[in-house]
Amino acid sequence: MHLICGKKRILLPYSETPTIEIKDPSIREAGVKVLMKREDLNHPFVSGNKWWKLKYNLLEAGLQGHHTLLTFGGAYSNHIYATAAAAKESNLKSIGIIRGERTLPLNSTLRFALDQGMQLHYVSRESYREKETPAFHEKLRDQFGGFYLIPEGGTNELAVKGCEEFGSMLNTIQADYLCLPVGTGGTMAGIVKSISPRTTVLGFAVLKDAGFLEPKIHMLGGGSTDAEWKVVTDYAYGGYAKRNDIVTAFMRTFRERMNIPLDFVYTGKMMCAVFDLIEKGFFERGTTVLAIHTGGLQGGS
Ligand SMILES: *Cc1c(COP(=O)(O)O)cnc(C)c1O
Repeated sequence: MHLICGKKRILLPYSETPTIEIKDPSIREAGVKVLMKREDLNHPFVSGNKWWKLKYNLLEAGLQGHHTLLTFGGAYSNHIYATAAAAKESNLKSIGIIRGERTLPLNSTLRFALDQGMQLHYVSRESYREKETPAFHEKLRDQFGGFYLIPEGGTNELAVKGCEEFGSMLNTIQADYLCLPVGTGGTMAGIVKSISPRTTVLGFAVLKDAGFLEPKIHMLGGGSTDAEWKVVTDYAYGGYAKRNDIVTAFMRTFRERMNIPLDFVYTGKMMCAVFDLIEKGFFERGTTVLAIHTGGLQGGS
């Protein structure tokens, strides 16, 4: 599957991804079945949910005749990484507005973004807080000229639309529960819009103080679905992008046993939480749990 659009060639290849069964003594004991959709394998750099969040944004940028994408993120942002790669593949320029000061040497995320041709522009933490205001956008337009703006984390209506399409694809897999990690909530909002009502969606918040997420997901589309869904807030493991010993140990064992890499910000926390819930007997015997590997491994590192 390729995206090709109008005068500008928007090109983003997609590889079909497998659904595999995760086997473990604790899963067998609990009498449940655990599947994993390996969406991390859909593209080498624009991986997992980021592919789906960018899909319709890239098409729209092409339709509107834009030559440049502009977006926002922290120094380790998967979204910055994915947008830089997607722009390069689509022959679009890209600008990344990065929170905080430049530190050298650049970390591997920003190094990669720069190598993809992304222009990096650093702003102070105070200015960064203004990133959603029209005044700030106007300043950026004065500075950089015209661009197609994608918000921090990539969540907007078109991102939700892409994830809705992903969710309808997932309906070929019969599951009682669908589990995924949640940052801004855009991916979950799209999935709950199209998922079969037989499936309960559990989103695992990776940040602290995640009370804003349910109202936000409701607004982005969760309000118009028959499916049950819930944001689980007990498994942030110290907060956004914090390294946690339990999660780190879990990820190592998971990789050794299943040969599947997870990342410590999103999928590591989510799978660690799913195994904890399995051990606690949260999932009824005989049910099928589908976990989404949302990617984010930044080129397999
Ligand atoms: C960005 C990201 C998420 C969070 O997606 P949201 O739509 O912001 O909730 C989850 N998993 C991975 C691997 C990500 O890179």
